[in-house]
Amino acid sequence: MSTQTNQQFRLASRPVGMPTAENWQLTEEALAPLEDGQVRVKVLYLSLDPAMRGWMNEGKSYIRPVAIGEVMRAGAVGVVTESRSPRFKAGDHVSGPFGVQRFWTGQADDQGGLAKIDPGLAPLPAWLNVLGMPGMTAYFGLLDIGQPKAGETVLVSAAAGAVGATVGQIAKHLGCRVVGIAGGADKCRFVVEELGFDACIDYKEGPIGPGLKQHCPDGVDVYFDNVGGEILDAVLTRINLKARIVICGAISQYNNTTPVRGPANYLSLLVNRARMEGMVVFDFSPRYPEGVACLAQWLREGSVKHREHVVDGLENFPAALLMLFEGKNFGKLVLKIADA
Ligand code: NAP
Repeated sequence: MSTQTNQQFRLASRPVGMPTAENWQLTEEALAPLEDGQVRVKVLYLSLDPAMRGWMNEGKSYIRPVAIGEVMRAGAVGVVTESRSPRFKAGDHVSGPFGVQRFWTGQADDQGGLAKIDPGLAPLPAWLNVLGMPGMTAYFGLLDIGQPKAGETVLVSAAAGAVGATVGQIAKHLGCRVVGIAGGADKCRFVVEELGFDACIDYKEGPIGPGLKQHCPDGVDVYFDNVGGEILDAVLTRINLKARIVICGAISQYNNTTPVRGPANYLSLLVNRARMEGMVVFDFSPRYPEGVACLAQWLREGSVKHREHVVDGLENFPAALLMLFEGKNFGKLVLKIADA
C-alpha cells in the first residue's frame, strides 16, 4: 500500500449476537487532494470501545447507528500530515473521531471533534484512556452522577478496565472505601496492589454475594455499573439509604440475542430511597478541559495510574474488538495502526 492510499473497515452487515468477520469489509481507496479548511491525519492508535457494539445496531440510541457501508466509527489519536487550515499544522498530534482507517481527512472546525493533544504529558495511548473518553466517563460519571463523599463505599464493576480503573482511583482520592469487581485473580490483584483499591471481588469465582458482604460491610453508597445483568441485581441487595447507581454500561448484555436482562431487585431502590441514573459521556464534552486538567494533574503527581493493552495492526480490528466481550483486554484496549 502506498502512503497515498487509505484502508478502512466498513460495516458490511449488522451482527446478531457477537460480531463476526462477515460483518466487516476491508476497503482501499486513493486519498483525494485536500480542500480549503481541511486537514489530513495519519491515525496512530485507535480506541476499541464496548460502545462500538451498540453503534453497529439499528435503532434509536444516544447516537445514530453506523450505516451499512460506512467506515466504522472510532475515536483515535494521530498526527497531522497535511493541513489547509490555519488551526493545525503538519506534525501536530491530535485526537478525534477518525474511524477505523489509516487516514482521516476532514474540516478542522469546531464541529469535527478534532483536538490538539500533548504527547509530552502522557504517551499517545493514554490519550485514549485516562485523558480520553474513558477518563472523562469516569470523572464526570462518578463526580456528577455518583456524587461520592469521603468515607462512603464506592463499588465499581469492570474494575480493571479503562473506565473502572479510573473511577476507583478518583474515589480513593476523595477518601472513599473502594471495592472493585473484576474477572480473574490477576485483574483483582492489579486492582488492589497497583491501583490501590481496598478490595476486589472476582466474579468468575462464583456468585458475588459473599464478597459483597465481606468487602462492603457497611453497604454500598455508590455503585458505578459497567456490566449490568446479574451483577447489578446482586449489588441492588446491598445498597444503602440514598445510594446512587451510575448506569454507565451493561457489557454483559451487549451481545444478547434474547431481551436485555433487567434488574429483578429494583424495589431495593424504593426501600432505600435510592436512585439509578444513566450517563452518556458526550453530554459532558463542553467540560472535557476541566476533566483533562484534573486527571493530568493527578498523572503528573503519579497518583493516578493507567494501563493500556495494545494490539498491533489495522487488519486485526475485527478480532481485537471481540477481546472486550471476552475479558481478554487487560487495561484500555487500543489498536496500533502506524508508527509515529
Ligand atoms: P473495559 O472495562 O476496558 O473492557 C471491558 C471489560 O468488561 C472486559 O475487560 C471485561 O472485564 C468486562 N466484561 C466483558 N464481558 C463481561 C460480562 N459478561 N460480565 C461482566 N464483565 C464483563 O471497557 P471500558 O471501555 O472501560 O468500558 C466499560 C463500560 O463502560 C462498558 O459497559 C462501556 O459500554 C461503558 N462506557 C460507557 C460510556 C458512557 O458514556 N455511558 C462511556 C465509555 C464506556 P473482566 O475481565 O473483569 O470481566
